[in-house]
Amino acid sequence: MRKILIVGAGQSGLQLALGLQSQGYEVTLMSNRTADEIRSGRVMSTQCMFHTALQHERDLGINFWETQAPKIEGLGVSVAAPDASRAVDWVGKLDGYAQSVDQRVKMAGWMETFAQRGGQLVIHGAAVSDLDYFSRTYDLVLVSAGKGELVSMFGRDASRSPYAEPQRALAVAYVHGLGPRPEHPDYDAVRCNLVPGVGELFVMPTLTTSGRADILFWEGIPGGPLDVFQGVKDPSEHLSLTLELMEKYTPWEYARATKVELTDAAGTLAGRYAPTVRNPIGRLPGGGLVLGVADVVVANDPITGQGSNSASKCAASYLASITEHGDKPFDEAWMQATFDRYWETAQHVTKWTNAMLGVPPEHVLNLIGAAGQLQPVANRFANGFNDPADFENFFYDPEKAGAYLAEVAQGA
Ligand SMILES: Cc1cc2nc3c(=O)[nH]c(=O)nc-3n(C[C@H](O)[C@H](O)[C@H](O)COP(=O)(O)OP(=O)(O)OC[C@H]3O[C@@H](n4cnc5c(N)ncnc54)[C@H](O)[C@@H]3O)c2cc1C
Repeated sequence: MRKILIVGAGQSGLQLALGLQSQGYEVTLMSNRTADEIRSGRVMSTQCMFHTALQHERDLGINFWETQAPKIEGLGVSVAAPDASRAVDWVGKLDGYAQSVDQRVKMAGWMETFAQRGGQLVIHGAAVSDLDYFSRTYDLVLVSAGKGELVSMFGRDASRSPYAEPQRALAVAYVHGLGPRPEHPDYDAVRCNLVPGVGELFVMPTLTTSGRADILFWEGIPGGPLDVFQGVKDPSEHLSLTLELMEKYTPWEYARATKVELTDAAGTLAGRYAPTVRNPIGRLPGGGLVLGVADVVVANDPITGQGSNSASKCAASYLASITEHGDKPFDEAWMQATFDRYWETAQHVTKWTNAMLGVPPEHVLNLIGAAGQLQPVANRFANGFNDPADFENFFYDPEKAGAYLAEVAQGA
């Protein structure tokens, strides 16, 4: 059977490893951390995943936490006015629910499953020199190592990467004790709170190592008032800062957060990175080729909560390309075609995410405002998180946005 090496045990690497394994491929998975190290380590993401991405997991039968994780049925948007009141406030209903399972829980669990099913798990932080050797002994080497150092093997695609610098400073806190959303306590939703000129606060439920929790996630414009988490080492200081900023900029969210406490000492995360699209094929010094997966090749800012979704979609797309290829060689042309097939979906995520990082044009502000009066607009915006390709139809172009709003208003 064909031998495949996967380097990096995150959403994409593990999903691919389990998928290939179930189809009889001989898979080796290389991870720089053990399952226990991941489980007891720092939080890595907010990992909210929408219907299509979750369905890929169901298709492989690896949706192990689906019944335990909160079902996120809506996606709300609030816009803060200069006096910190809520100028806009609505919730769109999702056609299929979203879920967030702490990557510490999911990746550790999936890794153990992979090993229990007979997969070869190697705990080792791979270097380029290792890959040089392995590219000669495996039929295919996939690099799914996220935004780590191995990305240096894949050249930046400047034509698809409009930003050279990070566009947001990220600060995450996992908490217990958050009160329900007073407007709709009957169902779970992600809340996107936009603070113009300052940044965004995302609040969402998750399943973490200690059960149900909520995540408070600030995205701050670099150099602005939210860009204050760098260098904060003490988790309780991180939480205090998070809450102070909530009280100042999003008092409606602060009102339900006065009793929160961190889920655990590793329940905070701060950082930043530049959104980058890379050339998908890495050339090794010895002449071998490797194919980049998910964040290695397309890393978007988490402002639209798409990276894990994209990692799942990339893994599903690559799995199909690999299995459909049968016994033919995984050569350069196949690698490029495999990435191009994924890019058909990924390009919409990148376009929309990069648009959301900029200052919104007037027609987008109109759309977001109108969603407060027109429920179908709110619903369509919310479901765009599942399928960002739909934004082509009504979001970017002022004329299309105007025509869409007129059509909905007529039917209202
Ligand atoms: C703050 C924040 C919030 C986010 N929120 C969301 C969200 O709500 N929804 C969403 O869809 N996405 C979100 N994302 C993005 C999402 O987490 C990532 O895009 C996704 O995890 C990428 O998956 P991946 O498989 O490409 O890589 P990763 O999940 O990053 O996995 C890569 C793995 O490779 C390992 N590795 C690295 N180097 C090596 C090496 N040399 N050898 C061996 N192993 C190595 C790493 O330790 C890691 O385990 C968020 C990201 C951040 C930072």
